[in-house]
Amino acid sequence: MKTDSNRKIKNWEARLHQPIATVAPKKVRHLQEIVRWASRNETKLTVLGGSHSGHCLWRNAVAIDMSAFKQIHVKETSYEDSLVFVEAGCTSGEIVRKTMAEGLTVPLGTRPSVGAGLWLQGGIGHLTRLYRLTCDSIVGVVLVSVDSGKIIFAGDVDKELLPPDAVRAENEDELLWAVKGAGTNFGIVVSVVFRAYPAPTYKVKHTVDTSETREDTVRRLEHLNDVVAERLGYHHSAEAYLFWSFGSMRFGVTFLEVSPTTASPPLPTIFGPQPQIRIRQLHLSPPTSPNVVDGIGIFEKTYMRLREMQDGHFSNETCSFKRCVFLENFDDPCTKQKLSEAFEKAPTPLSYLHLVLGGGKMGEVTAHTTSFGCRKWTFACTITAVWWAYENGTVVMQNAIDWVYKVATDLSSLNACVGVYSADLGPDPRDLPLAKKAFGPNLPRLAQLKKRMDPNNILAFACPLDAA
Ligand SMILES: Cc1cc2nc3c(=O)[nH]c(=O)nc-3n(C[C@H](O)[C@H](O)[C@H](O)COP(=O)(O)OP(=O)(O)OC[C@H]3O[C@@H](n4cnc5c(N)ncnc54)[C@H](O)[C@@H]3O)c2cc1C
Repeated sequence: MKTDSNRKIKNWEARLHQPIATVAPKKVRHLQEIVRWASRNETKLTVLGGSHSGHCLWRNAVAIDMSAFKQIHVKETSYEDSLVFVEAGCTSGEIVRKTMAEGLTVPLGTRPSVGAGLWLQGGIGHLTRLYRLTCDSIVGVVLVSVDSGKIIFAGDVDKELLPPDAVRAENEDELLWAVKGAGTNFGIVVSVVFRAYPAPTYKVKHTVDTSETREDTVRRLEHLNDVVAERLGYHHSAEAYLFWSFGSMRFGVTFLEVSPTTASPPLPTIFGPQPQIRIRQLHLSPPTSPNVVDGIGIFEKTYMRLREMQDGHFSNETCSFKRCVFLENFDDPCTKQKLSEAFEKAPTPLSYLHLVLGGGKMGEVTAHTTSFGCRKWTFACTITAVWWAYENGTVVMQNAIDWVYKVATDLSSLNACVGVYSADLGPDPRDLPLAKKAFGPNLPRLAQLKKRMDPNNILAFACPLDAA
């Protein structure tokens, strides 16, 4: 087993954590050997998926690089009912590309390089209102138990894709339930099976306005809530960015219309001759003319657009830190005030708040159906601090991270906060109160399962479930 020392770790924080070793297993048998070795030697393990979190490498832990696990198989039973087998070293972009070639998709996040950490912890993206969270699409999982080193599986996995020694988990229903939201905590996930959906096209429009005062921002948040959140159908989505550009506060909204490529009834439109909402009701500037893009094009059209708008430059030489809270609505004036205030106090010009519209079919899933738990949110609000790479280790970086924790903690104490996204919460003590609000009512059950499935806490750096 070799370490690929050239592998670029995306997350700056993880790059600071010097692990005992990074191992790159090629076969499931190697994963079993690593787990058994770790158990005998009382050593902690981390897993390297897309390497976007700060927890894929840790001091005093051995990191398992899953890059060799790259298989994707599409099994088309019918156009409306297809499955995709995905190994845990794949990225979102690889899955979208491969499934798109078959006219299908899996609902994933907004960045192509993000890996298994996303679908094991939730997965919020442009298709969340139509096809639900990424973890909701998981119908089967294969993992190496960190307790026994055995290969276990749960749910719907084709026999020929299973490793020869795999056994059906005794607690298969509970395991599948747990993997759908808290899946980084119970074993080394080798592969999952997703339900696939018809690959859509997206019609995308943007608006950007300057907020001269806090009142401007508050008013725009109010309209976003009243007009957009209340009226959009399943096929529509929207996200807002509060960001700085050339020293001014900006409020940008991206509207998306998702059209399944299969024959479907004409969609009520937000953009067409009889729009569901008129942009002027939002008191926003006229939007750009719509772009029509596919599942790959959409990666560029949203996140990259923000980076272009921020003083017109984009550089890879930045680092970021984020936490995400779920807000029910903005009826309470306090929430809008807090968001606007937080935005004004952004620690660096590239830091921003990102609000993704929830609801739709995702909101119809009950909290107990999957371990993800937090369902009744109108907006997922991600607080993102961004600084230049050369500012790493400086007071700028420290202030930026402190700002994220302060805003996330303040927002999480509001009545409007109905949960916290567990993704990337870890051993930092400031994450503990946030972790208590992750998973909705499911945290006590998850904590018990963790004790049973990982009794020696070998996966010690995943989202803390002992916050229960
Ligand atoms: C630029 C950027 C954009 C993002 N966009 C979105 C988005 O649109 N939607 C969204 O929901 N989230 C988004 N996120 C959050 C993202 O989902 C998390 O950061 C996620 O943890 C990243 O997963 P990864 O595999 O890339 O990272 P990693 O750091 O490799 O893994 C994350 C965690 O999962 C564990 N893990 C990875 N693979 C396995 C495995 N096979 N078995 C067990 N544990 C495993 C790791 O040990 C680690 O604890 C974004 C993050 C960034 C930095």
